[in-house]
Amino acid sequence: MYLDAHVHLHEDPSMKNEIPIIIAVSDDLESSKKTLEIADNPCVGIHPWQVEEASEEDLKELERLLEEASCIGEVGLDHRYVKDKEKQLKFFEKFLTWSKEYDLPLNIHALDAWREVFELLLKYDVKRAYFHWYNGPLDLIEEIVGQGYFIGINAALRIQKKHAKVLERTPLKAILTESDGPYRYRGLNLRPKEIPWLVRKIAEVKGTSEENVVEEVYKNSVRWLGKLPKRNLNGAFS
Ligand SMILES: [Zn+2]
Repeated sequence: MYLDAHVHLHEDPSMKNEIPIIIAVSDDLESSKKTLEIADNPCVGIHPWQVEEASEEDLKELERLLEEASCIGEVGLDHRYVKDKEKQLKFFEKFLTWSKEYDLPLNIHALDAWREVFELLLKYDVKRAYFHWYNGPLDLIEEIVGQGYFIGINAALRIQKKHAKVLERTPLKAILTESDGPYRYRGLNLRPKEIPWLVRKIAEVKGTSEENVVEEVYKNSVRWLGKLPKRNLNGAFS
């Protein structure tokens, strides 16, 4: 069963019918509510790009949604595009605290903040975390894997040379497959339907079968989520 561990399903709910297992992330309070309604495996949170516009009140309301959520995300730090570093750190520290308090895994955005985020995970004693679309330092991969955290291999592998190096360095036992859909990226149309191609590519690089990759990714998702991911039982999966 193909699995996409990072989808902005609220932006296009029809993506649900592209593959059987989707873990859906949110961007803010409003999309968190929508994600809870439409997703089989919903993550709630405030994206680093949305933190500037979010309020303390949003956080309070978001906390009340955690009970229904499978994970917290998309949350993290972004040192490339976000100006207000203080506020995004304050919000991320809240999510780190919740991860422990509510025993929920994290679906993390850490653009140009890879090591800082890794160290915060250790500081806050986070047990289950996933670095979505990992493009950080190659020598940090071993430490991330050593902690039992997970690395997102994105379908942008089609064109990103750095990401190919990440895939080479990351053992299968730490990989989750993802699209970050719906996202137009340098001519690519990233959506869950890219996952079968991605699995084929990972199998090629790791010298194993596609079936084995699908099975390992599924097992990884169980360890990350702390439970079996739900599959969409109504999908056509053309
Ligand atoms: Zn995303």
